[in-house]
Amino acid sequence: MSESLPDARLLARYATPAPRYTSYPTAPHFRPDFPAARWEALLEATNTAPAPPLSLYLHLPFCRHLCFYCGCTKIVTAHREQADDYVAHLGRELELLTARLDPGRPLVQLHLGGGTPTFLRARAQETLLGMLGRSFATVSPEDADYGLEADPRDIAPGTLARFHAFGFRRLSLGVQDLDPEVQAAIHRIQPEALTRRVIDEARGLGYRSVNIDLIVGLPHQNIRRFEKTLETVLDWRPERIALFHYAHLPDLFPAQRAIDPRALPESAEKYLLQARAIEKLTEAGYVHIGLDHFALPGDELVRALETGTLQRNFQGYSTRKGTTLLGAGMSAIADLGTAYGQNEKDLERWGAALHAGRLPLARGLELDPDDRVRRRVIMELMCAFTVGTPPLAERGRVPFWEYFATEREALAPLVNDGLVEIRPEAIRVTEIGRFFVRHVARVFDARDRSARDEPSAPRYSRVL
Ligand code: SF4
Repeated sequence: MSESLPDARLLARYATPAPRYTSYPTAPHFRPDFPAARWEALLEATNTAPAPPLSLYLHLPFCRHLCFYCGCTKIVTAHREQADDYVAHLGRELELLTARLDPGRPLVQLHLGGGTPTFLRARAQETLLGMLGRSFATVSPEDADYGLEADPRDIAPGTLARFHAFGFRRLSLGVQDLDPEVQAAIHRIQPEALTRRVIDEARGLGYRSVNIDLIVGLPHQNIRRFEKTLETVLDWRPERIALFHYAHLPDLFPAQRAIDPRALPESAEKYLLQARAIEKLTEAGYVHIGLDHFALPGDELVRALETGTLQRNFQGYSTRKGTTLLGAGMSAIADLGTAYGQNEKDLERWGAALHAGRLPLARGLELDPDDRVRRRVIMELMCAFTVGTPPLAERGRVPFWEYFATEREALAPLVNDGLVEIRPEAIRVTEIGRFFVRHVARVFDARDRSARDEPSAPRYSRVL
């Protein structure tokens, strides 16, 4: 195990809640009174030459079963016909979006998330793919990054082939843990052989990147059990592995009330689970990317890290930095570069807006110049664990530490605790600091600082 383990004092100080920084400013700061007309104008402004290529996140919220740990926006139902209506509404949303975009802009990235995208019946899948093909200038599979999330327990025959024929080459499978007692406690019984079969089918069809989601911090997990899960997953040799942290927030996510908090590992044990997993995965040849992703050297995610095109977004870490990210479906978030916008999270409100011919925007935020410079610093820290400190080109070449004088003071305790080094030309997060990088990034989060003492201050998950 790694020599550099944080001690109890560090864990007590930093294994505390902090934002995950899938955006900056973070979603709790998006404003419900953001004007729809301004959003539409900003969307149209993305067509200005040179218009960035497009990336699309589509949210498909339906699931057949409820996993107790889940914090996603989802609808658990046995009625698959409910999804047919949803797909019809998505078609309307894509029409409203594409009416404001130059039709020549290539769709270089597409991600179907949820929920369970494979919940859709064959006809609904065909309808959805037909709509996507008609709405966007799709690109060849060699140039595209099209991926979907799937639940191995809910993939009807023909599904993977259908998405592959459209151009999908990435498949992301939820697994979380393979131990039977852990699976029972989270209400997700998923036999190992079933997942293996799905991986084999995907590879046989020509999917070039399979991702496995695992979670650290689930009830009844311990090192011995989790090592066994890791060994099986390594045997599958997926191109990517995402190792998420379970955030127990039962007040926010009612399904989590079914999880016995006494069965959850403590922060120190969670840390050991994570450290052991990092060690095992890197020994097995995976490159550790950002906070919680791992990929084999040939995978596009590793190339993105090497070429500086890795980005952090609402799906975690992703390639194709610099695209205009569109969001469709309930709760989906778009990033226009100049502004963020999130759709209605409620199915009825989302559908009603579309029925009325309006984009279903619920809240948004236009970035000011200060947000932009902070976003760059925070995202570089979250992706590369280092950020250069030359004068800020975005702010009239003001010296970095003159602009961030308050932050320099706030970083001092983190430097003393060995989480960060301040070098003449850069800030560097240390090996131990990597576990707590959300706190390092938070130092540069001016919006969080000004909201922290308000009664309505956002609540975040613990770092460990
Ligand atoms: S974890 Fe995935 S499959 Fe389980 S309820 Fe949540 S969205 Fe559905």
